[in-house]
Amino acid sequence: MGIELKCPYCGSIYRIGQDTIIATMDEAIRGTSIHPSMVDPNRPDLITYIRSDPERTKILNQKALDIMKAIQASLKKGQSRSWYCHKCLNEKNPCPYPKL
Ligand SMILES: [Zn+2]
Repeated sequence: MGIELKCPYCGSIYRIGQDTIIATMDEAIRGTSIHPSMVDPNRPDLITYIRSDPERTKILNQKALDIMKAIQASLKKGQSRSWYCHKCLNEKNPCPYPKL
């Protein structure tokens, strides 16, 4: 059983490890000149569907699973992590991740 994230605003279901990219803030600032310490760690992650060829989809799915593991680990440490959907872009009202 994989993890599913359902957007409460548009009803999109994102299946981690099957069709979903998790774009975390750390990821977003990689390759930019912004220093990680300048980024708010509580900023929500952006969730979107993979639209890629099968080879790349495989890689992205594995990556999403790895990121989800890291997110679950930080939730267990009591950190708050949330996400928002690429269709709604409701960054102001992000959704919490389910605790496993
Ligand atoms: Zn949505």
